[in-house]
Amino acid sequence: MSNAPVGRFAPTPSGRMHLGNVFAALVAWLSVRSRGGYLVLRMEDLDTQRTKEEYAQVLREDLAWLGLNYDLETEPQSRRSGVYRQYFDRLEEMGLLYPCYCTRSQLHSVNAPHLSDGNYFYPGTCRDLTWQQKAQFTRDPAWRVKVPDRVWTVEDMAQGHYEANLATDCGDFVVRRADGVYVYQLAVTVDDGEAGVTEVVRGMDLLSSAPRQMYLQSLLGFAHPAYGHVPMLMSSDGRRLSKRDKDLDLGYLRQHTTPETLIGVLAYGAGLLEKPQRISAKELAEVFTWDKIKGTEIYLDTAALF
Ligand SMILES: [Zn+2]
Repeated sequence: MSNAPVGRFAPTPSGRMHLGNVFAALVAWLSVRSRGGYLVLRMEDLDTQRTKEEYAQVLREDLAWLGLNYDLETEPQSRRSGVYRQYFDRLEEMGLLYPCYCTRSQLHSVNAPHLSDGNYFYPGTCRDLTWQQKAQFTRDPAWRVKVPDRVWTVEDMAQGHYEANLATDCGDFVVRRADGVYVYQLAVTVDDGEAGVTEVVRGMDLLSSAPRQMYLQSLLGFAHPAYGHVPMLMSSDGRRLSKRDKDLDLGYLRQHTTPETLIGVLAYGAGLLEKPQRISAKELAEVFTWDKIKGTEIYLDTAALF
């Protein structure tokens, strides 16, 4: 293996990409391509209720339209439960897993602080159940991993210094749900680790996930990748752009603008260009630098898209 960076783009094929997904994909691509690195594509389709192969196919076409090529597509998560099972077993052999029988309403009723990613702090209710207590439950448990009382530090390429102590910030977290589905944190750690990913670039809503993934990396023998959690996109009037803005998903954008216009608006908003201009991803790779991708918000002149 060379020392070239390996990045990844890991979309959820549950609909059309919106502008925020495009921006994360663009920065992931620029970061590796500007340094002669590689990009891996992976479909995060653990939620088989919402995801569809036809959406995955449209996603590949949208990336091609944007000029964001990749070197390899790895197996989608929906087909990897056998692999995740092996890593789950290793955690169990280490004595780090325990069954949690709490119901959803129990988990949400304890005066638990709500984390930014939608999870609740878990106070360790089921950590020390005896086998007799476990035997009284008839339902299938979720499985949690015990977390250590230590600080995890991320020197994020976009957000700078970030740290968290899992013991006080989220508590023991679920790695397999009661229905047998392995959770995002475990799947991402295994997939990135096995693919040899050296940098993880994604939206900043996932920054709080990084310490949980770093913990699992350290347990499962994977190197920590570099992290870059890119800022959220805002309209020029200060509103957060989201999936609800239908005129900003690629279905609409591909009919009403060009890839060069779109990339130019994103690049100018991010500060990668001095003035508004049309530009291809390839041209932009020549001037890309992480120094410009800072902060939590980027303001876009969306009117300039059309
Ligand atoms: Zn529990």
